[in-house]
Amino acid sequence: MLDINTIRNDFPILSRTVYDRSLVYLDNAATTQKPRQVVEAITDEYYNVNANVHRGVHYLSQQATDLHEEAREKVRKFINAKSTSEIIFTRGTTESLNLVASSFCDEFMQEGDEVIVSVMEHHSNIVPWQLQAAKKGISIRVIPMTDEGELMLDEYEKLFTERTKIVSVTHVSNVLGTVNPVEEIIRIAHEHGVPVLVDGAQSTPHFAVDVQAMDCDFFAFSGHKMYGPTGIGVLYGKEDWLDRLPPYQGGGEMIESVSFEKTVFERLPFKFEAGTPDYVATHGLAKAIDYISAIGMDNIQRHEEELTKYAMQRLSEVEGIRIFGRSPRKDAVVSFLVGDIHHLDMGTLLDRLGIAVRTGHHCAQPLMIRLGIQGTVRASFALYNTKEEIDVLTEGIKRVSRMF
Ligand code: PLP
Repeated sequence: MLDINTIRNDFPILSRTVYDRSLVYLDNAATTQKPRQVVEAITDEYYNVNANVHRGVHYLSQQATDLHEEAREKVRKFINAKSTSEIIFTRGTTESLNLVASSFCDEFMQEGDEVIVSVMEHHSNIVPWQLQAAKKGISIRVIPMTDEGELMLDEYEKLFTERTKIVSVTHVSNVLGTVNPVEEIIRIAHEHGVPVLVDGAQSTPHFAVDVQAMDCDFFAFSGHKMYGPTGIGVLYGKEDWLDRLPPYQGGGEMIESVSFEKTVFERLPFKFEAGTPDYVATHGLAKAIDYISAIGMDNIQRHEEELTKYAMQRLSEVEGIRIFGRSPRKDAVVSFLVGDIHHLDMGTLLDRLGIAVRTGHHCAQPLMIRLGIQGTVRASFALYNTKEEIDVLTEGIKRVSRMF
């Protein structure tokens, strides 16, 4: 059992009011709130340490570099990568996915080659491949799903051809909450000699991730969705893949030497980190990892599974509700529509009751097309949410429904 009261006290924003009502924050799949420990570490670094990393001989620069590189080691341990060479800091999942799409296509894909993605991808795992399709003529093949929101693995196997060069799938759907069987997806891809990129934006906040056990070739995630700062993310890649990929951007930090005749790139991971990194955010991310590790990812998972089960049960009471995503492997997200109430109306009226949910297509328009809808209302949970908040949500939805 988590000590929710103590945890909630670490998040000052949770005790604020909106429209004179207690805030019920259920938009965690968009971004999580930050505990004091993270906010204070960021402030402290700006007040007491701030200096650019890696290139300074002076005390502050070395101290900032130490914090930055300690953060890389924390991330390595958090996802159980083999080496810190495999941990690249980016601005977030989106940049990590763009990096792989761009560098992988540059090196390994020709016109007519294929990437496999799924129908439930976030736009950030679709559009980067479309950009490459426009540039290089690659094509995108799509894993379909069942009405319950589970990927159809038999159909997935049929998508492989001799032109398949990479598979890129989300670990957890940000709309349906489905936890995809990525280990199986990876095993099948590897049987075809094809590497796999996993979008971990919605998994790292909720359960322990072990990239070696999963055997993914690349793994992307964002700090801000797991109680860390905005603007910082991670790309994990197996070292032998990263070694073979060309840099994504050029500039300072990513070179060993530069002349007009010949430039030599830095070793990993710096080859992929052009320019001044957000070294304060990496320190903040490390503090977020400390925070959730101290609570325990297994405890967080148990708590959120219970919340999700409870939410499914309570929301099912609402007359005329349609819940999207009914896989038994479902995590911390409940998307729904009630009768013919527009998702935006429901979200706006819930907001007036102090309940923050997300409405719309959730950056997953192809999934909306598959579901035959324009958008949903989405409630998404974090470690600090409670069953009482789900009760408030349920009563709120009932109240709004009565208005229509
Ligand atoms: N992938 C998934 C599944 C997401 O839910 C999100 C964000 O909502 C992203 C990728 C993009 O993350 P970011 O905006 O932090 O780059």
